[in-house]
Amino acid sequence: IKDIKVKILTAEDLDISRFYRFPDSHKGDYGKVGIVAGSKYYPGAAVLCSNAAVQSGCGLCYLITPQEALYFQNLRKPEIIVLPLEGKEGVISFDSFVKFNEYLAKLDVLGFGCGLTRDLEVEKILIHILENFQIPIVIDADGLNTLSSSPKARELLASYKSQKVLTPHYMEAARVLDVDVKDVAKSPIDAAKKIASEFRAICVLKGSRTIITDGDMVFINVLGNPGMAKGGSGDVLTGIILSMIAQGYSAFEAAKLSVYLHSLSADILLEKKTMQTILPSDIIEGLNSAIRRLI
Ligand code: AMP
Ligand code: MG
Repeated sequence: IKDIKVKILTAEDLDISRFYRFPDSHKGDYGKVGIVAGSKYYPGAAVLCSNAAVQSGCGLCYLITPQEALYFQNLRKPEIIVLPLEGKEGVISFDSFVKFNEYLAKLDVLGFGCGLTRDLEVEKILIHILENFQIPIVIDADGLNTLSSSPKARELLASYKSQKVLTPHYMEAARVLDVDVKDVAKSPIDAAKKIASEFRAICVLKGSRTIITDGDMVFINVLGNPGMAKGGSGDVLTGIILSMIAQGYSAFEAAKLSVYLHSLSADILLEKKTMQTILPSDIIEGLNSAIRRLI
């Protein structure tokens, strides 16, 4: 690789200064995460994302999810504050969402997309957020799919003033760029840079070698293993990124740190388990060992 702006992500590239917790600190010092996620169809995505957020150090985590997604949440950590909204056929509804405007204004970072499904209501909510708020935002999964099909959301996101992180896997990136997934696979660095530039965002292009870029500097993650190739892994990563931003990291630093810790956790799990049996929920529990190894 000739381009000096492409670098393998190592521990030296990470800023761990914010992992130190001052003795006289309180939860307000570690930030409030808000997560808009889940539906009747994908209740687990909301659980994984919010569990990952509370397991990685944020002060408070609010999960904004439709009531119809709550049936499945016995595995949700009790530290998560749930704001159950009225849904519309199992999907979060715009009318109930806007009632929580005051909550949203108090958040330090907002996650949008895991398990929401593709729906007109979801598009309306994303547009509402981009028009009315100015907080850092992490967009994943159906948030990205919504961008792909909504020129208005796309335009609003490009001019949105706060920090942004987009976390597509190859298929989601292909939809966002309106190209074939083969083109993304052929030149993933170009694809990631293109997404970062268009939206003036940090792009985390997820794969076996996840790429993190601000459109200029590129980091390639080489940790992680195919045991992570399971539904739910990406939701966990989104939760970690949210938690890091809440704790005061910039979007770029948070993305690098989170991708690294997410993969390191999965690698440490292989010391005792197999690639078949490690689950995204185990990656969350494993964050403890990963953080210990890093700091
Ligand atoms: P998602 O497709 O949104 O569930 O995200 C999958 C997550 O698992 C991303 O963080 C990927 O980087 C990671 N992942 C999936 N497959 C592999 C693999 N073969 N090697 C390493 N990481 C992987
Ligand atoms: Mg995903």
